[in-house]
Amino acid sequence: MGRGRRAAAIALGVAGALAAAIALTLAGCQSFGEHASGERLARMRQSPEWRGDQFQNPQPMWSDMRDALMRAFTGGPDVEPVAPVPVARTDPAALAIAPASGLRVTWFGHSSMLIEIDGVRLLTDPIWSERASPVDWIGPHRWYPPTIALDDLPRVDAVLISHDHYDHLDWPTIVAMRSWKNVFIVPLGVGAHLQRWGIAPERIVELDWWQPARVGALALTLVPARHASGRVSGRSDQTLWGGFALVGARHRVYYSGDTGLFDAMAQIGQRFGPFDVAMIEAGQYDADWPDWHLGPEQSVLSAQRVGAKALIPVHWGLFRLAHHGWTEPVERVLAAARCSDMPVLTPRPGQPIEPTALKPGDSTRWWPDARWATAAQKPIVATTDGVDSHRVALPQCPAAPQVSER
Ligand SMILES: [Zn+2]
Repeated sequence: MGRGRRAAAIALGVAGALAAAIALTLAGCQSFGEHASGERLARMRQSPEWRGDQFQNPQPMWSDMRDALMRAFTGGPDVEPVAPVPVARTDPAALAIAPASGLRVTWFGHSSMLIEIDGVRLLTDPIWSERASPVDWIGPHRWYPPTIALDDLPRVDAVLISHDHYDHLDWPTIVAMRSWKNVFIVPLGVGAHLQRWGIAPERIVELDWWQPARVGALALTLVPARHASGRVSGRSDQTLWGGFALVGARHRVYYSGDTGLFDAMAQIGQRFGPFDVAMIEAGQYDADWPDWHLGPEQSVLSAQRVGAKALIPVHWGLFRLAHHGWTEPVERVLAAARCSDMPVLTPRPGQPIEPTALKPGDSTRWWPDARWATAAQKPIVATTDGVDSHRVALPQCPAAPQVSER
C-alpha cells in the first residue's frame, strides 16, 4: 500500500471510529432522558421533598464512597451464577386466564413484575433489555433472557416506575410501549424522560409522595422511599423516587421500589395495610452504602413494619449490581424470616403465583447452593439520619445461621 493510500485508509478508519463513537453517544443521549422544565419543573418545586435545587430524603443517607470505590473491582465468591439459572418460561396462555383468587404476581427477576390485582393489570419497573445501562454494549448484563416476550404479555392497564435508575427505567422497553394503551404512573419529574422517548403526555401520571391515582377500580398511591435518582453523573436527584401502595376491591399490595430503611414505613402500613403481599427489595446492597438499599434483614423488618402478611424479596436474581453472592439476598431473607415468622414466597423468575392461594411448588428453593455471607459476617444496618455512628437497632436473631459457607 502506498503512503497516500495508507493515509487515506487511516483517515477512513478514524472517521469510521468517530462516526461509531458519535452514534454511541447519541444512543446514550437518548437513553439519558430529559430534564424537567416549564410546568413540570414548577410542580416539582412545589413538592415538600424538593429542597434547594433537588429532591431530598427526610432522613439523609450515609455512605463511604472511598471504600466502595476501592473495592469496586474486587468480586466476592459466587457473585454471578455459574450455570444457567433455572427460570420458568412464562406461558401467555396461563396469563390469559384471570387469577381465581383475584391476585397474581409474576416476578421476572430484579424489580420487573406483572401484578394482577382485582381485575387490574400492572407492570412494575419493566426492563427487557440485555443490560441495565445507557448503552447496549457495556454495563451489567442479564443472566437469562426475558421469560416472556414483551408483546406476549396480556394487555397492561398501567406501568409503574419507581424511579429513573437504569435498572428500573429502561429506554428500549419504554420505546417498545409507544403503541400500547396503558398509562404510566411515575414519581415527579420522570415524565420528562417518557415524553422525550415518545410517550404521549396524556398517558403519563406523575405523583408526589402520598398522592393517589386510580386505575379502573384500583386505588394506588406513590409512597415514600429512601433512595436517590439520576441517569447522568452530576445530575442526581432531579426526579423523585418512591414505592407504591395498591388498594383493590379485595386485595392490598405494597411494592417498595428501591429504598433503605425509613421511618414512614409504619405510616404506610397504617394508611394502606395490612398488605396481602409485599414485594420488597432485598438485593444489591453494601455495607458502604447501607441507606440506599435495605439488604435482606431490613427487608424482612420492612415487611413487618408495613404490615405485610407475606414477603416476596425482589431486586435480586437478574443483574449483578453489588458485590454479594447472587443467592445471598434470598438465603438471608429466609434466615431472618425464620426469626420473625414472616412468610416468604420465592417464586421462580417467570412463574405466576397467587400469594393468597398458593399451590405446591409455587414457592420453592429453585436457586442452587452457592457461597454467601451471613448477617453476622456482613451486617447491613441503616443510619437513622445519615451519620455513621447513628445506626438503627435491628432485632437480633440468634437462630440465624452463623456460618453459611458451603
Ligand atoms: Zn435505584
